[in-house]
Amino acid sequence: PVVTRFAPSPTGYLHIGGARTALFNWLYARGRKGKFLLRIEDTDRARSTAEATEAILQGLRWLGLDWDGDPVSQFARRERHAEVAREMLARGAAYKCFSSPEEIEAFREEARAEGRSTLFLSPWRDADPASLPDAPHAIRLKAPRDGETVVHDAVQGDVTFQNAQLDDMVLLRSDGTPTYMHAVVVDDHDMGVTHVIRGDDHLTNAARQIQIYQAMGWQVPVFAHIPLIHGPDGKKLSKRHGAVGLHEYAAMGYPAAAMRNYLARLGWSHGDDELFDDAQAREWFDLGGIGKAPARLDFKKLEHVSGHHIAQMPDDLLIGELAAYLEATGTEPLTARQTDWLRPALPAIKSKAKTLPALLEQGRFALVQRPVEIEDKAAAALDSVSRGILGELTAAVQHASWDRNELEAAAKQIGESHGLGLGKVAAPLRAALAGRSSTPSVFDMMLALGRDETLARLQDQAG
Ligand code: GLU
Repeated sequence: PVVTRFAPSPTGYLHIGGARTALFNWLYARGRKGKFLLRIEDTDRARSTAEATEAILQGLRWLGLDWDGDPVSQFARRERHAEVAREMLARGAAYKCFSSPEEIEAFREEARAEGRSTLFLSPWRDADPASLPDAPHAIRLKAPRDGETVVHDAVQGDVTFQNAQLDDMVLLRSDGTPTYMHAVVVDDHDMGVTHVIRGDDHLTNAARQIQIYQAMGWQVPVFAHIPLIHGPDGKKLSKRHGAVGLHEYAAMGYPAAAMRNYLARLGWSHGDDELFDDAQAREWFDLGGIGKAPARLDFKKLEHVSGHHIAQMPDDLLIGELAAYLEATGTEPLTARQTDWLRPALPAIKSKAKTLPALLEQGRFALVQRPVEIEDKAAAALDSVSRGILGELTAAVQHASWDRNELEAAAKQIGESHGLGLGKVAAPLRAALAGRSSTPSVFDMMLALGRDETLARLQDQAG
């Protein structure tokens, strides 16, 4: 069975690069009835915070990426990491190194000054175990000194590292804490991870990690190192390109479903398919579709994907996305009444909005309270003739059956009696119902608001 994982370091918010890594792992597992695990790599105690962990979990939840079981804390597993290092020692796959950090630094400085390789080879590697001092020491991997280590990468192909270029990495520091490299391997092994999908900034680490797997005789997982995301200009993504935190996209009002679609396409493709839902993504996603070239962020494409998802989303889900958006921006949730007015208008307006705030803008008539505040531009449509028309209309539809045909017929008839077309009748109606000049169709608004609220708003403005 497939087991993937997302292993963020809790030192900040969830970056869209991290969100994409998580998404790929989630899609790969979910499409294969596998498991998607979460591991918080919190061994760096100085930089890891509980707030960052919460922000990352929150980001994953918003994006709709559910994980199996409880998140694993790497720090909580430090005893296990130490135990494996000692086991390697016992097997002769690792050794105690008594060189102090100062000695190693002095060696490196000298090597740099003399233009020699700074690769540190511990003098303790082949020391006689019977004559070791009783002193603080690190535990180092006894890595092969010749030959090569090959990462068989599902994205990058075979990537070869000469063992002579890799030093005997530290597994356990002299203070007993595990190194990142060691902890990752022990955790991935113990968690049963079969596929490691992560950024290609970890490719060299993979070679070193493979050496640990081999020293323990453990099965090496499938590695897939994905190219990092670049900005629209082709340079490595950074803040100057715009939003880099997933929460910023939530606050801009892109629905999570659209972000999943968009992020899936950042670096992965399935033929010419640009727009798809989760079921399709799960079915289609595989490692072979991941490109070798860095994907570029494209805000116009994101808008397009977002507009598509909003337009085709079932109304109930859309209401849920709106609630998530309002929460992400710290805005009051919709009241039951606002939701009741907005919902019936959604089919008419959802194809006109590319983001959730744009949808709320379209549906503003459903959010405002009486007396409706009238914008200047809309106020111009409320002259005395128009106000008279609103009065006539109120009387005409008071007992009409509340359907589109009757409402439209009534509005037309009143317009004709004044020698006016429907557009001229609609303008004051828009103003009275929504307080603005740009709104969905007046009949859609009347139907959504229902008779009582419509008549009340018309009466507020009628002459
Ligand atoms: N904690 C690492 C990071 O946030 C990821 C390690 C891994 O995926 O193996 O970059």
